[in-house]
Amino acid sequence: MGDNPPGKGSSKMPATVVVGAQWGDEGKGKITDILAEGAAAVVRYQGGSNAGHTVVVNGDEFKLHLIPSGILHEQTLCIMAAGTIIDPICLRDEIQGLRERGVTCSNLRVSVNAHVIMPYHLLLDGLQEDARGRGSIGTTRRGIGPTYTDKTARKPRSIRMADLLDEARLRTLIGEQLAHKNLIIEQAYGHRPLEPDAVFDEIAPALEVVRPYIADVRGTIREAMDGGGEVIFEGAQGTFLDLDYGTYPYVTSSHPVAGGACLGTGVGPTEIDAVVAVVKAYTTRVGSGAFPTELTDEVGDGLRERGSEYGTTTGRPRRCGWLDGVALRTAADLNGATAIAITKLDVLDGLDTVRIAVAYEIDGERVERMPENLDALSGARPVFDDMPGWQQSLSDTRTPEELPEEARAYVARMAEIANCPIWGVSVGPSRDQRVRY
Ligand code: GDP
Repeated sequence: MGDNPPGKGSSKMPATVVVGAQWGDEGKGKITDILAEGAAAVVRYQGGSNAGHTVVVNGDEFKLHLIPSGILHEQTLCIMAAGTIIDPICLRDEIQGLRERGVTCSNLRVSVNAHVIMPYHLLLDGLQEDARGRGSIGTTRRGIGPTYTDKTARKPRSIRMADLLDEARLRTLIGEQLAHKNLIIEQAYGHRPLEPDAVFDEIAPALEVVRPYIADVRGTIREAMDGGGEVIFEGAQGTFLDLDYGTYPYVTSSHPVAGGACLGTGVGPTEIDAVVAVVKAYTTRVGSGAFPTELTDEVGDGLRERGSEYGTTTGRPRRCGWLDGVALRTAADLNGATAIAITKLDVLDGLDTVRIAVAYEIDGERVERMPENLDALSGARPVFDDMPGWQQSLSDTRTPEELPEEARAYVARMAEIANCPIWGVSVGPSRDQRVRY
């Protein structure tokens, strides 16, 4: 992988968005971690503690659900911008866990405007999912949906990080919220109501730890960009989990697409120089929803085992399938991708044939881009391009020339479908296991 992703043409790449091109879990954590080295700032722009990044440094695995992957580089500011939502208890636990492993977190900043995931959001998330029964949407039960719902509802006021700085104000807002929430908790779900003091007491121990990190971050991002350093905007989840452009309703409650980086951080669209779409060499998805290239046989089981496809946040087995080129083509468009970073190519090692869906057949018609109404996906039949597999392990390859011809052809086909250059190919979990393009 090169040092700078190809962008609009300038040699300096100050603002790069890293976005998942599929249904999340593409391995964005590793790519962001590589790009973050030497960057002035890494900024998360949406989502909350449902991100589940895994980064490996010197064989040591760090699992992060909330804090940006760049936290491991002390000189890089790690920012949770206004578009994110924060569970203070989870934030406290991650800060303390990182400190125990020698990561100081002195580079962490959390926006005053980020909304707060409160204990009643977690309760409601669980109650709502249980009530959906077989029709559940497979949320992580981390309170994400209910918190974004409160943010957009506006009254009673949702709690923001700035409110955590003032105890009296926080108690008042919790009281206002519960006056409303308890009606739902009791009457819709038959659960006992929550006590405002008990909710305050539950989060109080976390406040002391998180308060020093609450800051006005928009100015900080601006300064980092003006200072000429690289700023990485890190998306969580993936393109097809976007609230507007994903497979609704099996989506997240925010905007993972690259445009979300502008909304979530207050940076204008013309300031973004590069968009790296991270795409796994095959497809996975967690929870329900249409999945045209899904493999429910032993080939799918093999991908799951070799790729360790189990959720970082929930431990749930992920559904696995062949690469969906229709989704890749569409994701490249939706994000304005300037490059693709391919991950987990090594997981395809040893297969006789590797398949890419280059189109769908829907109602007898060949379709090459995702239909806007993704309900049509449930009737889509993938049209596959079969390519020969490779029989050697890729994990020690570092240059395109070292890749077997079949693997080179496979990634070239991916770039052709995405219609943009390859930034790099990841061939294992460690930072150094990458093929630079
Ligand atoms: P993210 O949320 O998009 O960062 O993805 P996850 O962290 O859920 O999934 C990525 C997982 O795959 C992590 O355990 C990584 O260490 C691992 N990983 C990342 N890149 C590669 C790769 O190229 N090959 C293999 N075998 N594993 C990888």
